[in-house]
Amino acid sequence: MVGAQQNLQLANWAQKGDVLHEFMHALGFLHEHQREDRDLYVTCWSKDTANYVKKGMAIGRYDADSVMHYPDIRGDLNCHNLWAPRQCKRLSNGDKVGLNKLYPPVRQPRVYNPEKGYTDLYYCGRHNMENNNAPFGKISVDGYCGPNNGPNCPSCREYGGIQTWCNDEGSYATQGETGLFYCGRRFTARENERRYHDGFCGPNNGPHCDSCRRLLE
Ligand SMILES: [Zn+2]
Ligand SMILES: [Zn+2]
Ligand SMILES: [Zn+2]
Repeated sequence: MVGAQQNLQLANWAQKGDVLHEFMHALGFLHEHQREDRDLYVTCWSKDTANYVKKGMAIGRYDADSVMHYPDIRGDLNCHNLWAPRQCKRLSNGDKVGLNKLYPPVRQPRVYNPEKGYTDLYYCGRHNMENNNAPFGKISVDGYCGPNNGPNCPSCREYGGIQTWCNDEGSYATQGETGLFYCGRRFTARENERRYHDGFCGPNNGPHCDSCRRLLE
């Protein structure tokens, strides 16, 4: 976004995701993989400076699920240890968080009014989390953000800030991209979660240990 009026140019093959992507540019958003902190999350080899060079603006957590994130293509961009899908089709929860931060709703106090649940995380109660945005599907997720327990949605994670808590085994655990807490310790995963388990609890995704699971109950 460089001035007032914005012209959107769409190819005749453009799909809904392309329209959303270009519209987000017009509203001031750069590509997610161009954030200043992107080297922590992706490796970039592309020589295309217009679309890949680091240019700042990071709102919220790095979001590989964003409609502003290019797909993971060998030779241009590779994600490190991130499971959120590179989808290019719809606004992610993180995109909606970014839009609401840059363009806060003026008079709708009831639309988004998160409250603390049993876990001490903030929850909005909305039906906006079908899964953990990860290949293992659903861990402690029933489709709703809260209202009292389980992982909270990305908007509520942004609202309350990413938490680091001490679990009941005395290890510090931080909320990862899946919304689950992870302490980084070695543990044995439950039978149906072994495929997605690398031996450790997190640190950013995958199944979590029983002690970290109890933080969300
Ligand atoms: Zn773009
Ligand atoms: Zn929420
Ligand atoms: Zn753990």
